[in-house]
Amino acid sequence: MIYFLPLLAVFLGYLIALFIKPGSSIGFKLLLAFSGAYLLSVTVFELLPEVYETGDNKVGIFIMIGLLLQIILEFGSKGVEHGHIHHEGNKGAFPFALLISLCIHAFLEGFPLNTSEHLLHGVVIHKIPVAAILSTFLLQSGISKAKVFLFLGLFALMTPLGSWIQLNNGSITQYSAYIHAIVIGIFLHVSTTILFEASKNHKFNASKLAVIIFGILLAYFL
Ligand SMILES: [Zn+2]
Ligand SMILES: [Zn+2]
Repeated sequence: MIYFLPLLAVFLGYLIALFIKPGSSIGFKLLLAFSGAYLLSVTVFELLPEVYETGDNKVGIFIMIGLLLQIILEFGSKGVEHGHIHHEGNKGAFPFALLISLCIHAFLEGFPLNTSEHLLHGVVIHKIPVAAILSTFLLQSGISKAKVFLFLGLFALMTPLGSWIQLNNGSITQYSAYIHAIVIGIFLHVSTTILFEASKNHKFNASKLAVIIFGILLAYFL
């Protein structure tokens, strides 16, 4: 499941991109707001206490490193991780910067997935809108279909690769708390940005607020 669900999420995102226009769909925006609230909640309720339980106070530094890393990665990804693309690149050029930054992000988020089923679900729910936005962008970018599939395939494999290394490389466990702390920083930045952009211009939106509260409650009670 830990390998299968993240792959499924990318595939579902691709299907969404084929059949709806994610950028303008209300249902998609609600899914995105829900994914942000759920991911933030699971991070705060489960992942954060777990790394502090180690008693190692360096984890705080690694959380901030993760947050900074995500800010830097978004120079390359233009915000795909939080559900949209701010600027479009050159038509027809293969988006290497986008691929590399998304792969680093996806690779790292694979590491803590074995710690909690809820976190696995949180990452999967977060990956669906990301993959949908990414697929929409790639399909419109003017690159060939083969390159689109190559890009999506590489991107899809990164999270399972991170999980696999965590599970099969014994020597990595001594650094787990630090890696998880970096991922916490990444998730804090991504999820709060989603919630921030969900209430753009501070315009009140009852259904968005409702799915955000629903996401928090679901993460708390499950
Ligand atoms: Zn943004
Ligand atoms: Zn992610």
